Amino acid sequence: MNIVICGGGMVGLTLARLLRLRGQEPIVLERMPAGAFVPRGYMLGFQGFPTFEEIGILDEIKAAGWDIAPRADGSQVAICVQVGRILDLLGDGLPVEHEHTVTELVQDPTGRVVGVVAEGPEGSRTIPADLVVACDGTGSPVRQMAGIEATIDPLPEASLTFMSPEPGGVSFAMAYTSDGGHIGTLGWPQGSAGWRSIEKVGAQAALAPGLEAIKKMWIELLPESEKGISGLTSLDQIRYSEPGLLSCKEWWKPGILLIGDSAHFFGPETGVSSGIGLGDAHALAEAVRQFPDDADAACQNFITWRTPVVRPYEAMDPGRQRILTYGQVQPKPEERWPPAA
Ligand SMILES: Cc1cc2nc3c(=O)[nH]c(=O)nc-3n(C[C@H](O)[C@H](O)[C@H](O)COP(=O)(O)OP(=O)(O)OC[C@H]3O[C@@H](n4cnc5c(N)ncnc54)[C@H](O)[C@@H]3O)c2cc1C
Repeated sequence: MNIVICGGGMVGLTLARLLRLRGQEPIVLERMPAGAFVPRGYMLGFQGFPTFEEIGILDEIKAAGWDIAPRADGSQVAICVQVGRILDLLGDGLPVEHEHTVTELVQDPTGRVVGVVAEGPEGSRTIPADLVVACDGTGSPVRQMAGIEATIDPLPEASLTFMSPEPGGVSFAMAYTSDGGHIGTLGWPQGSAGWRSIEKVGAQAALAPGLEAIKKMWIELLPESEKGISGLTSLDQIRYSEPGLLSCKEWWKPGILLIGDSAHFFGPETGVSSGIGLGDAHALAEAVRQFPDDADAACQNFITWRTPVVRPYEAMDPGRQRILTYGQVQPKPEERWPPAA
């Protein structure tokens, strides 16, 4: 099967590795240069373990990170690890066409997707495909080119996050505030990160109290974050955003399938987005192995397999529950951010 994978992030690279293990030679197109990625605090949930075990990189990931909720038998619920380390391990020896951006889908007269147009340093070229797989993230240009609709449900609150070069004191800690909001921290050997929900006040107002006031608030609400957040030296290391939950009623149109963040994105406190995306990659690779000459049958098989896995996570996302109850309980004064004047 001629498979074109659009996007060489965690899910696209994983799919390529799994397909190659099954005798396929997919083309991976990635718009960014080799080695570039967006730094972020990252925990790999157990949902992603079997996929990385099959690829043969789980032990190295465990060795490079810190366990979250280790059990007596040596297993763990999740691993907090520098995200670049996983991307390096996945990309090692894998052919990827970096600096190649998918700009168009090619369709036959019936509307079936039969290839892509990619722009790279050598110009533009058309690549025929039996199956195009969109692994191009939440903004997914390919999803939009295919006309597959995504619903974005804005979360009722904004998010304040930090990235610190100081390794955290713990791999993970999280607490709920009295209004159902949440605050957490992640730590790994090379750094730490944190997040908390706040009112939607805009970046200027959220950052106005200043760096030291933000550190103090974080440490008071979540003492486990002290070691990591103490490493912040600039307000530039703190970010305000207004995240949303992304879901798509359909993941497939003849010739094209969405997987990973292009198909679904969960709330920040779930920590499952990549694990679910890695499961998508595994299911699709297996479906292609079962139906190597029939892309449509492989995609139908994928949908049958993934619907009962992904849809309950979408329905039960705690962020979705808070959309229904937001505002019913007020936070305590010390939990409010920015603090009342
Ligand atoms: C701040 C933050 C924190 C997160 N924390 C966690 C966490 O703790 N645990 C967890 O499980 N998940 C977390 N996630 C989600 C997790 O990072 C993703 O689920 C995971 O990276 C898999 O994403 P993906 O490969 O589907 O998409 P992405 O990682 O977004 O990769 C998409 C790739 O497609 C490329 N691309 C886009 N358009 C084109 C185009 N037209 N042509 C070619 N290439 C293109 C992009 O350059 C990118 O490399 C977090 C996400 C964010 C933003």
